[in-house]
Amino acid sequence: MDENNIRVRFAPSPTGYLHVGGLRTALYNYLFAKHNNGKIVLRIEDTDRNRYVEGAVENLIDSLSWAGIKFDEGPVQGGNFGPYYQSERLTIYREHVNKLINDGKAYYCFCTPERLKNLREEQQRLKLPQAKYDKHCLHLSPQEINKNLETKKSHVVRLNVKPGEKVFVHDVVRGKVEFNTDNIDDQILLKSDGFPTYHLANVVDDHLMKISHVIRGEEWLSSTPKHILLYNYFNWNLPVFAHLPLLLNPDKSKLSKRQGDVAVEDYRAKGYLKEALINFVALLGWNAGDDKEFYEMDELIEKFTLERVNKAGAVFNIEKLNWLNGEHIRRKSVDELLPVLKNELSKSKFKGKQFSDNYLKLVLKSMQERITFIKDIITNSSYFFEPPSSYDEKTVKKRWKDDSEILLSKFLNEIEGLENPSKEDFEITLKSIVEKENVGLGRLIHPLRLALSGVGQGPGIFDLIFILGKEESVSRIKTALKTIPGISKSLKNN
Ligand code: GLU
Repeated sequence: MDENNIRVRFAPSPTGYLHVGGLRTALYNYLFAKHNNGKIVLRIEDTDRNRYVEGAVENLIDSLSWAGIKFDEGPVQGGNFGPYYQSERLTIYREHVNKLINDGKAYYCFCTPERLKNLREEQQRLKLPQAKYDKHCLHLSPQEINKNLETKKSHVVRLNVKPGEKVFVHDVVRGKVEFNTDNIDDQILLKSDGFPTYHLANVVDDHLMKISHVIRGEEWLSSTPKHILLYNYFNWNLPVFAHLPLLLNPDKSKLSKRQGDVAVEDYRAKGYLKEALINFVALLGWNAGDDKEFYEMDELIEKFTLERVNKAGAVFNIEKLNWLNGEHIRRKSVDELLPVLKNELSKSKFKGKQFSDNYLKLVLKSMQERITFIKDIITNSSYFFEPPSSYDEKTVKKRWKDDSEILLSKFLNEIEGLENPSKEDFEITLKSIVEKENVGLGRLIHPLRLALSGVGQGPGIFDLIFILGKEESVSRIKTALKTIPGISKSLKNN
């Protein structure tokens, strides 16, 4: 295949939001295009007017661009290549359907809904495996057809499928899949409202847009023989087909809303990094042939091939996504994470409070190794943003000893005299006290942590005190010295 002619498309129907399965399809198309120096276009398949949802396209485009999937062609919109809309191409489909009618490959059908209903019921009564149109209107005379058209009788146009033939789909993922035309209905191509069906518009556009590879979800495999018939009837070359495996819940049922989120925007709102979601979605049905799991977009582009896409359904394992989110947080610089933290703060109870970038970066650096989500810093370590309002009882019980008050007071005295202390200054001060008092480091570290944060664990103690700064730490230690001894006493008495 000539590398320069690799062209793929992502062709969603705007049904409201971008499904994670849709993101996977878009991503694989994108990776395939970039890996092969090809092009990817976005085509909105919006010919089903009943399913039209207000704002769905904007939502789709927003989710795709957040995820970093950019398109290479199309009408320019806000500096990016916007989508092609099928609803703006109706005359093209009409012209093509007329050609099929003239060639005897498609025909007008004027059957009423009642007739079709009766036909279906009759076929069900006979226990036929599948309801199929009986080609009744294929046998209308030209005069009858013209009369019906002149009197504007409601009609559709159907594909004229020749029974008793075999159609083969050569699928990159699934190999050769055989279908028999006996099982293929005379599919409607043009609906009574003049809009094309998915099958017609999809094939015409893939041809006119010179799509070389059709990469889409497995649920479209059963439509592919109809598409192949259309290509043959138009006398067009076939694209290469690749159908991606189903996405499954951990119990192996088809991924559904009932068992968790399926919309990309939900994952975004929950605070997943786009890099983690992309990494995770890339591994839903593909691997590079080793057990590597951490990927960034560049490496995915470098490694991605259709040959390494699996046939078997891919299980959507949220724990793995969470783990990847933590891994991506660890690989990022604090400058990259800063806007994420600021955004989370703006949604939290600390939204009115001012924190300098420098402060937030120090917080990030101390917590980066310990979190799954950036928002964990706010929910689990609120002491960075406000003084503790209580002290964890278990920790008080375990860590507040008889000498804690004296040791902490000594430490307080010493640091009050320090000018602009560095992290090392705090460390030297603390160590000199425990040495003098001849006790272990923990004897002072644990009460100090409790005083500063109200809890028993967190980042390194010298990081914590340095980040909070002398003034804030002094104030917190003073409050703690007034409060914790009493708490400790009452806990002991209980
Ligand atoms: N419009 C179809 C969808 O919603 C596209 C299927 C295809 O890629 O051919 O997924």
